[in-house]
Amino acid sequence: MAKSITEQCLANNQNYAKGQAVHRPAYPGKQPIQPARRLAVVACMDARLDVEDLLGLQTGEAHIIRNAGGVVTDDAIRCLIISHHLLDTNEIVLIHHTRCGMLAFTDDLLKAGLEGDPAAEKLLGQATGRAFVNCGRCASTPSAFHAFRGQIEPLDAPRDEKNMERLAWDVRRGMSSILNHPWIPTGGPDAVTVRGFIYDVDTGKLEEVSYPGPMGSIG
Ligand SMILES: [Zn+2]
Repeated sequence: MAKSITEQCLANNQNYAKGQAVHRPAYPGKQPIQPARRLAVVACMDARLDVEDLLGLQTGEAHIIRNAGGVVTDDAIRCLIISHHLLDTNEIVLIHHTRCGMLAFTDDLLKAGLEGDPAAEKLLGQATGRAFVNCGRCASTPSAFHAFRGQIEPLDAPRDEKNMERLAWDVRRGMSSILNHPWIPTGGPDAVTVRGFIYDVDTGKLEEVSYPGPMGSIG
């Protein structure tokens, strides 16, 4: 049986981590709208992730859906449904990463800071090294920032067992949201596959997250 596209991307990632550029940056010419590798990737917006490079993808080969955290939000689900049903992708890859900013705050803390709580404002300023300026107003949107579950840690903290576990929780939550969505088929002839990974920004390597497994604790 032919290797899945995800497996080929993992092989490309080994080369990327050794310093081998795989992505070709030049304009490739006219291409079809459907991603050539039938792949959809959901990844964090972190500036240190170049998704095409780290997976060895070329222009035209995959949908890349990015947001803060690489969280499977309503909008990510919307994109994945369109990606699969209208544009023929059939493999989904989720990518979280070490040192992610989403490990370093909570939704409550950020909201309180934005709304003008001096204690939250001070904590956020200390955490980010940037003067946090409150807006002194409440807003109904966004309804959630999707900061990762668990005990918060300093911004850009190196990987350890605890933060790797928190990242894995959120990858599994995303996988579960996709695998249980009624409009994303994971069985039968139109099935998509879903795999989740943590990218180490210090080594350039992807590590797979086991699934199913724990999805978080508030402790
Ligand atoms: Zn991130």
